[in-house]
Amino acid sequence: MREVLLALFKLQQIDSRAQEFEQAALKLPERIHELEGVLDKQRVALGAMRNEEDAKRKEQEAAEAQIREEGEKIQKWKRRLQEIRTPREYQALSREVEQLERLSKELEDKVLLLQEEREAIDKAAAEKETELREAEAVAFKEIRELREAQAKLNREATEAKAGREALVASLSKRWVSLYERTRAARDGLAVVPTAGDSCSGCNRVLRPQLMVELRKLDTVHTCPYCSRVVVLDSLTRSENNVEISAST
Ligand SMILES: [Zn+2]
Repeated sequence: MREVLLALFKLQQIDSRAQEFEQAALKLPERIHELEGVLDKQRVALGAMRNEEDAKRKEQEAAEAQIREEGEKIQKWKRRLQEIRTPREYQALSREVEQLERLSKELEDKVLLLQEEREAIDKAAAEKETELREAEAVAFKEIRELREAQAKLNREATEAKAGREALVASLSKRWVSLYERTRAARDGLAVVPTAGDSCSGCNRVLRPQLMVELRKLDTVHTCPYCSRVVVLDSLTRSENNVEISAST
């Protein structure tokens, strides 16, 4: 029965170790997602700047087209002015020309302003773009490392399970079933050593009679409080440096 107890304890060690690797591997995609989210935010900000610049460029082009139109009109009307004979008509058309020239001047100012604004946006966007490329280089490197770390942890989890099958095969179905049931119900921890007179699974003090029974090493005992299999601490320690082979 000593062998059964040690095999159960060893099985728990294997599964706990594999579980540590598996849980560590599961945390990495979260960080990858976080890194990608930061880059996405930067890309969205850059896209918004490009859109703003594009809107201003269209506005500028429209103003420039209008300036050309008004210019043609001004030239036409100026030619007509030379043909006008009556002062009243001359005055009226002159005012029209003046208004058009004022409008043209306003449009030219607007074009200049838009041009300046576009240049400022372009400059800021170029800086953002450089920042994004640098951030991408750093993040892509980290993501690559995280993926490698994840693959390594998964490999280690598999390696940690070496010998598990043989260990399970060495135990009777009854104990394997008790082990798996308890493990599923108790967060992956089914076999625990005693800690003094307590169960190290739930930290409650075990009855003296149970401690006496545990020391006999003649059957598998479970903690009355947390239902985990309790193994005498001294037994696990005495065997700790000895590799328990599947044959035990
Ligand atoms: Zn307990």
